[in-house]
Amino acid sequence: MIQLRKVKRPESRAEGLILGPIGDAEILATDEVPGGGWHHVILDGKPTAVAYCPKCGKKGYLDEHTIAADGTVSPSLVCPHQPCDFHDNVQLMGYES
Ligand SMILES: [Zn+2]
Repeated sequence: MIQLRKVKRPESRAEGLILGPIGDAEILATDEVPGGGWHHVILDGKPTAVAYCPKCGKKGYLDEHTIAADGTVSPSLVCPHQPCDFHDNVQLMGYES
């Protein structure tokens, strides 16, 4: 008899995607992070973050977004790089304001 293996489906998260922090070496090495990520940056004297698109890996600045203390970005993130159509809510894992 063939045993069917139960496969757990990926959970769909109502609150959107979680981006992981990337390290200094990665920041210096590339302008693209496949799978996405984020790091702190100072723009015009204000602390904000750079996010890498989870879909195309290209970066965008979050200076026009609000980042809550738990890393939740609002409004939702829209990838600025055509033809990428990423648009979702994201949370920056490990963010400290
Ligand atoms: Zn993108």
